[in-house]
Amino acid sequence: MTGDGFISIVEAIETKQNITREQLELLLTGQENDYLMERATAVRQRVYGKDVYIRGLIEFTNYCRNNCYYCGIRRDNKKIHRYRLDKAGIMACCGEGYRLGFRTFVLQGGEDGFYTDDIICDLLESIKSQYSDCAVTLSIGEKSRASYEHYYRAGADRYLLRHETANEAHYGKLHPAELSLSHRKECLYNLKEIGFQVGAGFMVGSPGQTVDTLYEDLQFLRELNPHMVGIGPFIPQQDTPFGDKTAGTVEMTVRLLAIIRLLLPQVLLPATTALGTIDPVGREKGLMAGANVVMPNLSPKGVRDKYALYDKKICTGEEAAECIVCLKNRVDKLGYSIVCDRGDYIGG
Ligand code: SAH
Repeated sequence: MTGDGFISIVEAIETKQNITREQLELLLTGQENDYLMERATAVRQRVYGKDVYIRGLIEFTNYCRNNCYYCGIRRDNKKIHRYRLDKAGIMACCGEGYRLGFRTFVLQGGEDGFYTDDIICDLLESIKSQYSDCAVTLSIGEKSRASYEHYYRAGADRYLLRHETANEAHYGKLHPAELSLSHRKECLYNLKEIGFQVGAGFMVGSPGQTVDTLYEDLQFLRELNPHMVGIGPFIPQQDTPFGDKTAGTVEMTVRLLAIIRLLLPQVLLPATTALGTIDPVGREKGLMAGANVVMPNLSPKGVRDKYALYDKKICTGEEAAECIVCLKNRVDKLGYSIVCDRGDYIGG
């Protein structure tokens, strides 16, 4: 494709906030993508300026009742050491995070029945009363609408639930039969209706992913119009059925980040830990492709390596404080700056 062709496609996507399957294929395979990155950072700049929002990730349990083929904390992985943080442990993470400047806490975990709705709500109420200027995000999987309503009433502001893939057949290759795309989507629509700021998303380069499935992902994102989109490369975890599959690439991930920024200009878009794991400057590349959020780990040092969704995850040996100092320097070098506030979605 000529440079001109690439440029006019990028311009069309930015203007129409829509993409065709053919345009997607050309953008993912075209040789020069500088113009794509340029437009994505310009759009991000117009909406969010130079600000980078930080979210303190608290991985509070690695017990999970599900058996997703890609995920290291899947039920059938007998090799990992399972842990749960108690309320005091979680509150301590929030305290440390608050001191470091975090104003969003993300409570993420496997689908762990130990944490009943009452326990989650009690936790939410405590965090929100002690840190009333903070947002709390939950990322604890598929629950009933009633449970989501309880969490919302108890003060949860946001919910992350990646849809993983918007193609039925592909969903079936990534998950056992008891999990369904239709239920995952229903959860996302319920969360949105209840009033949460919602995050969807997918892994880049997951086994069986094609341009067609990615096209469906992008169309689903346009339809759902979420407040956040989490995408990162698939990285094999050795003790899962996908242990010998090939990882997704930085190249594909940053192109997709940029395309998502053009399709959903106001979206909150993290440069994920997985991107930082496959490339030492992966998160920087993400921020230069339109991403505007980073989610450093606030989990206690002793449990970090146990939340092993995939192999060789970064920052498992560092204290939260070390991570944030290092990250601030890295973000500054790019000409961006970390801001110490909730970092809410801008727009309707
Ligand atoms: N139980 C919660 C949190 C899941 S872990 C839920 O269901 O939403 C958060 C995300 O990590 C998943 O949504 C998935 O997209 C990603 N993930 C899991 N295994 C991965 C792997 N091997 N490589 C890259 N990302 C992975």
